[in-house]
Amino acid sequence: MPRAGFPMTEAADLLLTGAEVHALTDPDRTAEAVAIRDGEIVRVGSEYEVRFLDGVETKVIELDGGVVLPGFIDAHTHVQLLGQYELHADLWGIERRDACLDALRDHAAELDAESGAADGRDEWAIGFRYDESAWDDDRPLTREDLDAVSEGRPVAVFRIDVHSASLNSAAVERLRDDLPESDVRTEDGEPTGVIVEDALDVLWERVAPDREDARELLDAAQERAHRLGVTGVHDMVRNTTLPWAYRALDRADRLRLRVRLNYWADHLDAVAEAGLAPGAGSEFVRTGAIKSYTDGSIGSHTARLREPYADLDGVDADSGDADAGGDDADGERGQWVIEPDELRAIVADAADAGFPVAAHAIGDAAIDAALDAFEDADAALADPNRRYRIEHAELADDEQIDRMAAAGVVASAQPNFLQWADEGGLYDRRLGVERRERADRFRRWLSAGVPVAFGSDCMPMDPLYGVHHAVNAPTDEQRISVTEALRAYTYGGAFAAGDEDRLGTIEVGKEADLVALERSPWDDPGGIDDVDVALTVVDGDVVYDDR
Ligand SMILES: [Zn+2]
Repeated sequence: MPRAGFPMTEAADLLLTGAEVHALTDPDRTAEAVAIRDGEIVRVGSEYEVRFLDGVETKVIELDGGVVLPGFIDAHTHVQLLGQYELHADLWGIERRDACLDALRDHAAELDAESGAADGRDEWAIGFRYDESAWDDDRPLTREDLDAVSEGRPVAVFRIDVHSASLNSAAVERLRDDLPESDVRTEDGEPTGVIVEDALDVLWERVAPDREDARELLDAAQERAHRLGVTGVHDMVRNTTLPWAYRALDRADRLRLRVRLNYWADHLDAVAEAGLAPGAGSEFVRTGAIKSYTDGSIGSHTARLREPYADLDGVDADSGDADAGGDDADGERGQWVIEPDELRAIVADAADAGFPVAAHAIGDAAIDAALDAFEDADAALADPNRRYRIEHAELADDEQIDRMAAAGVVASAQPNFLQWADEGGLYDRRLGVERRERADRFRRWLSAGVPVAFGSDCMPMDPLYGVHHAVNAPTDEQRISVTEALRAYTYGGAFAAGDEDRLGTIEVGKEADLVALERSPWDDPGGIDDVDVALTVVDGDVVYDDR
Protein backbone atom coordinates (compact mmCIF):
# COMPACT_ATOMS: atom_id res chain seq x y z
CA MET A 1 0.00 0.00 0.00
CA PRO A 2 1.33 3.51 -0.80
CA ARG A 3 2.29 5.70 2.11
CA ALA A 4 -0.26 8.31 1.21
CA GLY A 5 -2.98 5.74 1.75
CA PHE A 6 -2.51 5.73 5.52
CA PRO A 7 -4.89 7.93 7.42
CA MET A 8 -3.41 9.50 10.55
CA THR A 9 -5.63 7.44 12.77
CA GLU A 10 -5.70 7.07 16.52
CA ALA A 11 -2.58 5.74 18.19
CA ALA A 12 -2.31 2.05 18.95
CA ASP A 13 -2.24 0.52 22.44
CA LEU A 14 0.48 -1.95 21.57
CA LEU A 15 3.01 -2.35 18.77
CA LEU A 16 4.97 -5.51 18.14
CA THR A 17 7.98 -4.48 16.09
CA GLY A 18 11.22 -5.89 14.73
CA ALA A 19 9.48 -9.16 14.07
CA GLU A 20 8.99 -11.70 11.34
CA VAL A 21 5.20 -11.68 11.29
CA HIS A 22 3.50 -14.63 9.61
CA ALA A 23 -0.17 -13.89 9.03
CA LEU A 24 -0.76 -17.57 8.19
CA THR A 25 -3.29 -16.55 5.60
CA ASP A 26 -3.39 -18.71 2.51
CA PRO A 27 -0.91 -18.00 1.00
CA ASP A 28 1.06 -16.91 4.04
CA ARG A 29 1.79 -13.17 4.07
CA THR A 30 4.72 -11.83 6.05
CA ALA A 31 5.29 -8.43 7.64
CA GLU A 32 7.59 -6.74 10.15
CA ALA A 33 5.19 -5.34 12.70
CA VAL A 34 1.66 -5.41 14.09
CA ALA A 35 -0.39 -2.67 15.75
CA ILE A 36 -3.17 -3.37 18.22
CA ARG A 37 -5.92 -1.15 19.58
CA ASP A 38 -8.80 -2.12 21.90
CA GLY A 39 -7.90 -5.78 21.61
CA GLU A 40 -8.04 -5.72 17.84
CA ILE A 41 -5.40 -5.87 15.13
CA VAL A 42 -5.42 -2.47 13.42
CA ARG A 43 -2.37 -2.62 11.19
CA VAL A 44 0.00 -5.26 9.84
CA GLY A 45 2.89 -4.08 7.73
CA SER A 46 6.41 -2.77 7.53
CA GLU A 47 8.13 -1.22 10.52
CA TYR A 48 7.68 2.16 8.84
CA GLU A 49 3.95 1.76 8.22
CA VAL A 50 3.16 0.52 11.71
CA ARG A 51 5.23 3.21 13.47
CA PHE A 52 2.68 5.78 12.34
CA LEU A 53 0.46 4.46 15.13
CA ASP A 54 3.06 4.98 17.85
CA GLY A 55 1.54 7.49 20.27
CA VAL A 56 2.47 8.79 23.72
CA GLU A 57 0.64 6.01 25.51
CA THR A 58 1.57 3.26 23.09
CA LYS A 59 3.48 0.32 24.47
CA VAL A 60 6.14 -0.89 22.03
CA ILE A 61 7.59 -4.38 22.22
CA GLU A 62 10.70 -4.85 20.12
CA LEU A 63 10.99 -8.53 19.25
CA ASP A 64 14.49 -8.72 17.86
CA GLY A 65 13.59 -10.87 14.91
CA GLY A 66 11.20 -13.09 16.87
CA VAL A 67 8.50 -14.84 14.85
CA VAL A 68 4.95 -13.61 15.42
CA LEU A 69 2.07 -15.96 14.64
CA PRO A 70 -1.64 -16.01 15.34
CA GLY A 71 -2.22 -17.48 18.82
CA PHE A 72 -2.53 -21.25 18.84
CA ILE A 73 -5.98 -22.76 19.07
CA ASP A 74 -6.03 -26.19 20.67
CA ALA A 75 -9.09 -27.57 18.90
CA HIS A 76 -9.53 -30.61 21.08
CA THR A 77 -8.57 -30.39 24.67
CA HIS A 78 -9.73 -31.03 28.21
CA VAL A 79 -8.85 -28.05 30.33
CA GLN A 80 -10.00 -29.77 33.49
CA LEU A 81 -7.38 -32.45 32.90
CA LEU A 82 -4.73 -29.85 32.22
CA GLY A 83 -5.46 -28.33 35.62
CA GLN A 84 -5.66 -31.71 37.30
CA TYR A 85 -2.20 -32.67 36.03
CA GLU A 86 -0.90 -29.65 37.88
CA LEU A 87 -2.69 -30.56 41.11
CA HIS A 88 -2.37 -34.38 41.27
CA ALA A 89 0.37 -36.90 40.41
CA ASP A 90 1.42 -36.28 36.81
CA LEU A 91 3.06 -39.40 35.37
CA TRP A 92 3.85 -37.94 31.94
CA GLY A 93 7.06 -39.22 30.40
CA ILE A 94 7.88 -41.80 33.11
CA GLU A 95 9.41 -44.70 31.23
CA ARG A 96 9.50 -47.43 33.86
CA ARG A 97 6.80 -49.17 35.85
CA ASP A 98 8.68 -48.97 39.18
CA ALA A 99 9.45 -45.26 38.71
CA CYS A 100 5.77 -44.65 38.03
CA LEU A 101 4.80 -46.48 41.20
CA ASP A 102 7.41 -44.51 43.16
CA ALA A 103 5.90 -41.25 41.95
CA LEU A 104 2.47 -42.44 43.07
CA ARG A 105 3.83 -43.48 46.46
CA ASP A 106 5.35 -40.01 46.90
CA HIS A 107 2.03 -38.42 46.04
CA ALA A 108 0.16 -40.65 48.51
CA ALA A 109 2.72 -39.79 51.18
CA GLU A 110 2.17 -36.07 50.52
CA LEU A 111 -1.55 -36.60 50.99
CA ASP A 112 -0.87 -38.50 54.20
CA ALA A 113 1.17 -35.56 55.45
CA GLU A 114 -1.62 -33.10 54.61
CA SER A 115 -4.47 -35.31 55.76
CA GLY A 116 -7.00 -34.35 58.32
CA ALA A 117 -9.28 -32.53 55.95
CA ALA A 118 -9.86 -35.78 54.06
CA ASP A 119 -13.45 -35.86 52.93
CA GLY A 120 -14.74 -38.59 50.62
CA ARG A 121 -13.07 -37.09 47.58
CA ASP A 122 -9.83 -35.74 48.92
CA GLU A 123 -8.68 -39.03 50.32
CA TRP A 124 -8.23 -40.46 46.83
CA ALA A 125 -4.69 -40.59 45.50
CA ILE A 126 -4.99 -39.88 41.79
CA GLY A 127 -2.47 -40.13 39.01
CA PHE A 128 -2.71 -39.03 35.40
CA ARG A 129 -1.08 -39.79 32.08
CA TYR A 130 0.67 -43.06 32.62
CA ASP A 131 1.69 -44.71 29.36
CA GLU A 132 2.69 -48.34 29.64
CA SER A 133 3.50 -48.48 25.93
CA ALA A 134 6.83 -46.88 26.83
CA TRP A 135 7.64 -49.59 29.36
CA ASP A 136 9.51 -52.83 28.67
CA ASP A 137 6.52 -55.08 29.33
CA ASP A 138 3.77 -52.85 27.77
CA ARG A 139 1.29 -54.05 30.42
CA PRO A 140 -1.16 -51.79 32.23
CA LEU A 141 -0.88 -51.05 35.94
CA THR A 142 -2.72 -53.66 38.01
CA ARG A 143 -4.59 -53.73 41.28
CA GLU A 144 -1.61 -55.48 42.84
CA ASP A 145 0.80 -52.78 41.64
CA LEU A 146 -1.37 -50.10 43.17
CA ASP A 147 -2.01 -51.96 46.43
CA ALA A 148 1.69 -51.54 46.96
CA VAL A 149 1.23 -47.75 46.64
CA SER A 150 -1.36 -47.57 49.39
CA GLU A 151 -3.61 -50.10 51.02
CA GLY A 152 -5.79 -47.73 53.00
CA ARG A 153 -6.23 -44.96 50.48
CA PRO A 154 -8.17 -45.53 47.27
CA VAL A 155 -5.72 -45.11 44.38
CA ALA A 156 -6.81 -44.44 40.79
CA VAL A 157 -4.48 -43.88 37.86
CA PHE A 158 -5.72 -42.71 34.50
CA ARG A 159 -4.00 -43.92 31.37
CA ILE A 160 -2.73 -41.12 29.12
CA ASP A 161 -5.65 -41.55 26.69
CA VAL A 162 -8.20 -41.48 29.54
CA HIS A 163 -9.97 -44.45 27.97
CA SER A 164 -8.79 -46.76 30.72
CA ALA A 165 -7.66 -46.49 34.31
CA SER A 166 -6.22 -48.71 37.00
CA LEU A 167 -7.50 -49.03 40.55
CA ASN A 168 -6.13 -50.51 43.76
CA SER A 169 -8.25 -52.84 45.91
CA ALA A 170 -9.57 -50.03 48.10
CA ALA A 171 -10.73 -48.13 45.01
CA VAL A 172 -12.28 -51.25 43.43
CA GLU A 173 -14.10 -51.87 46.71
CA ARG A 174 -15.60 -48.38 46.74
CA LEU A 175 -16.71 -48.29 43.12
CA ARG A 176 -17.53 -51.94 42.54
CA ASP A 177 -21.32 -51.77 42.87
CA ASP A 178 -21.54 -48.93 40.37
CA LEU A 179 -19.14 -50.16 37.70
CA PRO A 180 -20.63 -51.64 34.50
CA GLU A 181 -19.41 -55.23 34.53
CA SER A 182 -18.49 -55.34 30.85
CA ASP A 183 -15.94 -52.54 31.29
CA VAL A 184 -14.16 -54.12 34.23
CA ARG A 185 -11.27 -56.32 33.13
CA THR A 186 -11.02 -59.60 35.02
CA GLU A 187 -8.72 -62.57 35.33
CA ASP A 188 -10.07 -65.82 36.79
CA GLY A 189 -13.20 -63.90 37.76
CA GLU A 190 -11.32 -61.29 39.83
CA PRO A 191 -10.92 -57.65 38.74
CA THR A 192 -7.39 -56.96 37.50
CA GLY A 193 -7.83 -53.35 38.57
CA VAL A 194 -8.10 -52.17 34.96
CA ILE A 195 -11.34 -50.49 33.96
CA VAL A 196 -12.22 -49.04 30.54
CA GLU A 197 -14.63 -46.66 28.83
CA ASP A 198 -18.03 -46.35 30.61
CA ALA A 199 -16.58 -47.58 33.88
CA LEU A 200 -14.46 -44.45 33.92
CA ASP A 201 -17.56 -42.26 34.20
CA VAL A 202 -18.11 -43.69 37.66
CA LEU A 203 -14.57 -42.86 38.62
CA TRP A 204 -14.79 -39.35 37.16
CA GLU A 205 -17.78 -38.61 39.31
CA ARG A 206 -15.76 -39.47 42.40
CA VAL A 207 -12.83 -37.27 41.50
CA ALA A 208 -14.65 -34.36 39.83
CA PRO A 209 -13.64 -30.88 41.04
CA ASP A 210 -16.22 -28.82 42.92
CA ARG A 211 -16.64 -25.14 42.05
CA GLU A 212 -13.85 -24.00 44.27
CA ASP A 213 -11.46 -26.60 42.84
CA ALA A 214 -12.60 -25.66 39.35
CA ARG A 215 -11.49 -22.05 39.78
CA GLU A 216 -8.10 -23.21 41.03
CA LEU A 217 -7.78 -25.70 38.18
CA LEU A 218 -8.74 -23.12 35.59
CA ASP A 219 -6.24 -20.58 36.89
CA ALA A 220 -3.47 -23.18 36.74
CA ALA A 221 -4.57 -24.37 33.31
CA GLN A 222 -4.86 -20.87 31.85
CA GLU A 223 -1.36 -20.00 32.98
CA ARG A 224 0.00 -23.19 31.48
CA ALA A 225 -1.82 -22.57 28.20
CA HIS A 226 -0.35 -19.07 27.90
CA ARG A 227 3.15 -20.41 28.48
CA LEU A 228 2.59 -22.70 25.49
CA GLY A 229 1.27 -19.93 23.25
CA VAL A 230 -2.31 -21.20 23.42
CA THR A 231 -4.85 -18.40 23.18
CA GLY A 232 -7.94 -20.45 22.36
CA VAL A 233 -9.29 -23.88 23.22
CA HIS A 234 -12.14 -26.09 22.18
CA ASP A 235 -12.97 -27.81 25.42
CA MET A 236 -14.88 -31.08 25.44
CA VAL A 237 -16.95 -30.90 28.60
CA ARG A 238 -19.07 -33.40 30.46
CA ASN A 239 -20.26 -33.51 34.06
CA THR A 240 -17.85 -30.80 35.05
CA THR A 241 -17.94 -27.48 36.85
CA LEU A 242 -15.61 -25.97 34.23
CA PRO A 243 -18.32 -24.21 32.18
CA TRP A 244 -19.36 -22.49 35.39
CA ALA A 245 -15.76 -21.57 36.17
CA TYR A 246 -15.14 -20.18 32.66
CA ARG A 247 -18.16 -17.93 32.93
CA ALA A 248 -17.31 -16.83 36.46
CA LEU A 249 -13.79 -15.90 35.37
CA ASP A 250 -15.17 -14.21 32.27
CA ARG A 251 -17.58 -12.07 34.33
CA ALA A 252 -14.66 -11.05 36.52
CA ASP A 253 -12.83 -10.06 33.29
CA ARG A 254 -10.03 -12.49 34.10
CA LEU A 255 -10.56 -15.07 31.41
CA ARG A 256 -7.86 -14.75 28.79
CA LEU A 257 -8.57 -17.83 26.70
CA ARG A 258 -11.13 -17.98 23.91
CA VAL A 259 -13.14 -20.99 24.91
CA ARG A 260 -15.44 -23.00 22.72
CA LEU A 261 -17.52 -25.38 24.82
CA ASN A 262 -18.49 -28.61 23.11
CA TYR A 263 -21.03 -30.21 25.40
CA TRP A 264 -21.44 -33.94 25.71
CA ALA A 265 -24.47 -35.51 24.04
CA ASP A 266 -26.01 -36.47 27.37
CA HIS A 267 -26.25 -32.74 28.16
CA LEU A 268 -28.09 -31.91 24.91
CA ASP A 269 -31.55 -31.41 26.43
CA ALA A 270 -30.19 -29.19 29.17
CA VAL A 271 -28.03 -27.22 26.72
CA ALA A 272 -30.98 -26.68 24.39
CA GLU A 273 -33.31 -25.76 27.25
CA ALA A 274 -30.79 -23.27 28.60
CA GLY A 275 -31.05 -21.54 25.23
CA LEU A 276 -27.44 -22.09 24.27
CA ALA A 277 -26.71 -22.13 20.56
CA PRO A 278 -23.57 -22.75 18.53
CA GLY A 279 -21.61 -19.54 18.16
CA ALA A 280 -23.59 -17.73 20.86
CA GLY A 281 -21.88 -16.38 23.96
CA SER A 282 -19.39 -13.70 24.95
CA GLU A 283 -16.11 -12.59 23.43
CA PHE A 284 -14.42 -15.35 25.41
CA VAL A 285 -16.88 -18.15 26.09
CA ARG A 286 -18.99 -19.54 23.30
CA THR A 287 -21.02 -22.65 22.77
CA GLY A 288 -19.81 -25.03 20.09
CA ALA A 289 -20.89 -28.48 18.96
CA ILE A 290 -22.36 -31.50 20.68
CA LYS A 291 -19.69 -34.07 21.47
CA SER A 292 -20.14 -37.80 21.27
CA TYR A 293 -18.06 -40.92 21.16
CA THR A 294 -18.22 -43.81 18.80
CA ASP A 295 -15.22 -45.84 19.90
CA GLY A 296 -12.30 -45.72 22.34
CA SER A 297 -8.56 -45.54 21.76
CA ILE A 298 -5.81 -47.57 20.13
CA GLY A 299 -3.66 -47.69 23.26
CA SER A 300 -6.52 -49.14 25.31
CA HIS A 301 -7.53 -51.63 22.55
CA THR A 302 -10.94 -49.97 22.43
CA ALA A 303 -10.77 -48.12 19.09
CA ARG A 304 -13.23 -49.96 16.82
CA LEU A 305 -11.42 -51.60 13.91
CA ARG A 306 -12.62 -53.45 10.84
CA GLU A 307 -9.96 -56.11 11.38
CA PRO A 308 -8.64 -57.42 14.71
CA TYR A 309 -5.84 -55.78 16.63
CA ALA A 310 -2.46 -57.15 15.62
CA ASP A 311 -1.57 -57.95 19.22
CA LEU A 312 -4.96 -59.45 20.12
CA ASP A 313 -5.53 -61.73 17.17
CA GLY A 314 -7.09 -64.87 18.65
CA VAL A 315 -7.01 -63.44 22.15
CA ASP A 316 -9.98 -62.09 24.07
CA ALA A 317 -9.12 -58.60 25.30
CA ASP A 318 -11.37 -58.95 28.29
CA SER A 319 -9.72 -61.92 29.85
CA GLY A 320 -6.38 -62.34 28.16
CA ASP A 321 -7.48 -65.92 27.51
CA ALA A 322 -7.22 -67.59 24.12
CA ASP A 323 -10.31 -66.85 22.08
CA ALA A 324 -12.71 -69.75 22.45
CA GLY A 325 -14.41 -69.18 19.11
CA GLY A 326 -16.31 -66.84 16.85
CA ASP A 327 -14.48 -64.57 14.44
CA ASP A 328 -15.50 -61.37 16.22
CA ALA A 329 -14.99 -62.15 19.85
CA ASP A 330 -15.78 -59.01 21.79
CA GLY A 331 -12.64 -57.01 22.21
CA GLU A 332 -10.66 -58.37 19.28
CA ARG A 333 -11.70 -55.46 17.07
CA GLY A 334 -12.13 -52.98 19.87
CA GLN A 335 -15.52 -51.81 21.01
CA TRP A 336 -18.35 -49.40 20.48
CA VAL A 337 -18.64 -46.84 23.22
CA ILE A 338 -21.69 -45.47 21.40
CA GLU A 339 -23.32 -47.87 18.94
CA PRO A 340 -23.79 -46.59 15.35
CA ASP A 341 -27.61 -46.47 15.73
CA GLU A 342 -27.32 -44.46 18.87
CA LEU A 343 -24.95 -42.04 17.19
CA ARG A 344 -27.43 -41.51 14.35
CA ALA A 345 -30.09 -40.67 16.93
CA ILE A 346 -27.74 -38.23 18.69
CA VAL A 347 -26.88 -36.51 15.40
CA ALA A 348 -30.59 -36.22 14.53
CA ASP A 349 -31.52 -34.85 17.98
CA ALA A 350 -28.65 -32.39 17.89
CA ALA A 351 -29.63 -31.22 14.41
CA ASP A 352 -33.21 -30.66 15.63
CA ALA A 353 -31.82 -28.45 18.38
CA GLY A 354 -29.61 -26.58 15.87
CA PHE A 355 -26.28 -28.18 16.77
CA PRO A 356 -23.64 -29.95 14.70
CA VAL A 357 -21.90 -32.95 16.26
CA ALA A 358 -18.24 -33.58 17.00
CA ALA A 359 -17.90 -37.35 17.05
CA HIS A 360 -14.86 -39.09 18.45
CA ALA A 361 -13.90 -41.80 15.97
CA ILE A 362 -10.44 -43.38 15.78
CA GLY A 363 -10.80 -46.86 14.29
CA ASP A 364 -11.75 -47.33 10.62
CA ALA A 365 -15.05 -48.97 11.59
CA ALA A 366 -15.84 -46.07 13.89
CA ILE A 367 -15.06 -43.49 11.18
CA ASP A 368 -17.57 -45.25 8.92
CA ALA A 369 -20.17 -44.98 11.67
CA ALA A 370 -19.51 -41.26 12.12
CA LEU A 371 -19.59 -40.53 8.38
CA ASP A 372 -22.80 -42.53 7.93
CA ALA A 373 -24.44 -40.55 10.73
CA PHE A 374 -23.19 -37.21 9.38
CA GLU A 375 -24.21 -37.78 5.80
CA ASP A 376 -27.83 -38.12 6.90
CA ALA A 377 -27.58 -34.87 8.77
CA ASP A 378 -27.27 -31.95 6.42
CA ALA A 379 -23.63 -31.02 6.92
CA ALA A 380 -23.99 -27.47 5.71
CA LEU A 381 -20.51 -26.03 5.26
CA ALA A 382 -21.93 -22.67 4.28
CA ASP A 383 -23.26 -22.15 7.79
CA PRO A 384 -20.28 -21.48 10.07
CA ASN A 385 -22.25 -22.77 13.04
CA ARG A 386 -23.01 -26.11 11.45
CA ARG A 387 -19.57 -27.63 11.02
CA TYR A 388 -19.53 -31.32 11.76
CA ARG A 389 -16.33 -32.76 13.08
CA ILE A 390 -14.69 -36.12 13.46
CA GLU A 391 -12.44 -36.03 16.47
CA HIS A 392 -9.15 -37.87 15.80
CA ALA A 393 -10.17 -39.68 12.57
CA GLU A 394 -6.85 -41.46 12.88
CA LEU A 395 -7.27 -44.56 10.74
CA ALA A 396 -9.27 -42.99 7.89
CA ASP A 397 -8.67 -44.85 4.64
CA ASP A 398 -8.63 -43.17 1.19
CA GLU A 399 -12.34 -43.56 0.65
CA GLN A 400 -13.21 -42.16 4.04
CA ILE A 401 -10.92 -39.20 3.44
CA ASP A 402 -12.78 -38.47 0.19
CA ARG A 403 -16.10 -38.75 2.01
CA MET A 404 -14.92 -36.28 4.66
CA ALA A 405 -13.82 -33.84 1.97
CA ALA A 406 -17.08 -34.20 0.04
CA ALA A 407 -19.25 -33.64 3.12
CA GLY A 408 -17.04 -30.82 4.43
CA VAL A 409 -16.51 -32.67 7.69
CA VAL A 410 -13.66 -31.21 9.73
CA ALA A 411 -10.92 -33.63 10.77
CA SER A 412 -10.02 -32.57 14.29
CA ALA A 413 -6.65 -34.26 14.59
CA GLN A 414 -3.85 -34.56 17.12
CA PRO A 415 -0.45 -34.48 15.41
CA ASN A 416 1.15 -35.35 18.76
CA PHE A 417 -0.43 -38.82 18.42
CA LEU A 418 2.28 -39.51 15.84
CA GLN A 419 4.54 -39.99 18.88
CA TRP A 420 3.14 -43.57 18.85
CA ALA A 421 3.38 -44.11 15.08
CA ASP A 422 7.09 -44.86 14.74
CA GLU A 423 8.38 -48.20 13.58
CA GLY A 424 8.27 -50.54 16.57
CA GLY A 425 6.08 -48.09 18.49
CA LEU A 426 2.67 -48.55 20.07
CA TYR A 427 0.71 -48.38 16.79
CA ASP A 428 3.04 -50.86 15.17
CA ARG A 429 2.33 -53.39 17.91
CA ARG A 430 -1.40 -52.74 18.17
CA LEU A 431 -2.13 -52.29 14.46
CA GLY A 432 0.69 -53.71 12.34
CA VAL A 433 2.59 -51.84 9.66
CA GLU A 434 -0.19 -51.12 7.13
CA ARG A 435 -2.53 -49.51 9.63
CA ARG A 436 0.27 -47.78 11.51
CA GLU A 437 1.25 -46.07 8.25
CA ARG A 438 -2.39 -45.28 7.51
CA ALA A 439 -2.77 -43.29 10.76
CA ASP A 440 -2.93 -39.50 10.67
CA ARG A 441 -2.04 -39.02 7.00
CA PHE A 442 -2.23 -35.26 7.11
CA ARG A 443 -0.66 -34.77 3.65
CA ARG A 444 -3.34 -36.99 2.16
CA TRP A 445 -6.12 -35.26 4.11
CA LEU A 446 -5.06 -31.78 3.01
CA SER A 447 -4.60 -32.81 -0.62
CA ALA A 448 -8.09 -34.30 -0.64
CA GLY A 449 -9.47 -30.98 0.66
CA VAL A 450 -10.42 -32.07 4.17
CA PRO A 451 -10.53 -29.09 6.56
CA VAL A 452 -7.99 -29.97 9.26
CA ALA A 453 -7.92 -28.53 12.78
CA PHE A 454 -5.10 -29.49 15.13
CA GLY A 455 -5.44 -30.05 18.84
CA SER A 456 -3.61 -31.90 21.59
CA ASP A 457 -6.23 -33.85 23.52
CA CYS A 458 -3.88 -32.89 26.35
CA MET A 459 -1.25 -35.52 25.47
CA PRO A 460 0.37 -33.13 26.25
CA MET A 461 -1.05 -29.69 25.53
CA ASP A 462 1.81 -28.23 23.47
CA PRO A 463 1.16 -26.94 19.95
CA LEU A 464 4.82 -26.77 18.94
CA TYR A 465 5.31 -30.38 20.00
CA GLY A 466 2.36 -31.28 17.76
CA VAL A 467 3.68 -29.19 14.86
CA HIS A 468 7.03 -30.93 15.30
CA HIS A 469 5.40 -34.34 14.88
CA ALA A 470 3.39 -33.30 11.82
CA VAL A 471 6.47 -31.81 10.13
CA ASN A 472 8.75 -34.74 11.04
CA ALA A 473 6.22 -37.55 10.61
CA PRO A 474 7.45 -41.03 9.63
CA THR A 475 5.89 -41.26 6.13
CA ASP A 476 5.36 -38.90 3.17
CA GLU A 477 1.58 -39.19 3.45
CA GLN A 478 1.69 -38.15 7.12
CA ARG A 479 4.23 -35.34 6.79
CA ILE A 480 3.21 -31.73 6.06
CA SER A 481 5.06 -28.41 5.85
CA VAL A 482 5.76 -26.08 8.76
CA THR A 483 3.30 -23.54 7.34
CA GLU A 484 0.57 -26.15 6.88
CA ALA A 485 1.03 -27.50 10.39
CA LEU A 486 1.00 -24.05 11.98
CA ARG A 487 -2.07 -23.14 9.98
CA ALA A 488 -3.90 -26.25 11.20
CA TYR A 489 -3.07 -25.18 14.76
CA THR A 490 -4.42 -21.64 14.22
CA TYR A 491 -6.77 -21.08 11.29
CA GLY A 492 -7.84 -24.75 11.38
CA GLY A 493 -9.33 -24.44 14.86
CA ALA A 494 -10.92 -21.10 14.05
CA PHE A 495 -12.57 -22.61 10.98
CA ALA A 496 -13.80 -25.70 12.85
CA ALA A 497 -15.70 -23.41 15.20
CA GLY A 498 -16.95 -21.04 12.49
CA ASP A 499 -14.69 -18.38 13.99
CA GLU A 500 -12.47 -17.75 10.97
CA ASP A 501 -13.66 -14.15 10.57
CA ARG A 502 -12.50 -13.32 14.07
CA LEU A 503 -9.56 -15.61 14.87
CA GLY A 504 -6.86 -17.75 13.32
CA THR A 505 -4.83 -15.35 11.15
CA ILE A 506 -3.10 -12.00 11.61
CA GLU A 507 -5.29 -9.57 9.69
CA VAL A 508 -6.72 -6.15 10.34
CA GLY A 509 -10.03 -6.42 12.17
CA LYS A 510 -9.26 -9.70 13.86
CA GLU A 511 -8.87 -10.23 17.59
CA ALA A 512 -5.34 -9.53 18.81
CA ASP A 513 -4.53 -13.07 19.94
CA LEU A 514 -0.88 -13.58 19.06
CA VAL A 515 2.17 -15.55 19.98
CA ALA A 516 5.83 -14.68 19.48
CA LEU A 517 8.40 -17.47 19.24
CA GLU A 518 12.01 -16.89 20.20
CA ARG A 519 13.19 -18.34 16.90
CA SER A 520 11.85 -19.45 13.58
CA PRO A 521 10.35 -22.94 13.23
CA TRP A 522 11.06 -22.63 9.48
CA ASP A 523 14.81 -22.36 10.08
CA ASP A 524 15.23 -25.74 11.75
CA PRO A 525 12.21 -27.98 11.15
CA GLY A 526 13.92 -30.88 12.93
CA GLY A 527 14.14 -28.87 16.14
CA ILE A 528 10.67 -27.33 16.38
CA ASP A 529 9.97 -29.10 19.67
CA ASP A 530 12.84 -27.07 21.17
CA VAL A 531 11.48 -23.69 20.08
CA ASP A 532 10.23 -21.63 23.03
CA VAL A 533 7.35 -19.25 23.27
CA ALA A 534 8.63 -15.76 24.05
CA LEU A 535 5.39 -13.82 24.34
CA THR A 536 1.67 -14.50 24.36
CA VAL A 537 -0.92 -11.80 23.72
CA VAL A 538 -4.65 -12.30 24.21
CA ASP A 539 -7.16 -9.63 23.28
CA GLY A 540 -4.28 -7.16 23.09
CA ASP A 541 -3.06 -7.96 26.64
CA VAL A 542 0.37 -9.46 27.22
CA VAL A 543 -0.49 -12.58 29.25
CA TYR A 544 2.91 -14.24 29.12
CA ASP A 545 6.33 -12.71 28.62
CA ASP A 546 9.50 -14.76 28.76
CA ARG A 547 11.85 -12.49 26.84
ZN1 LIG B 1 -10.44 -35.96 24.10
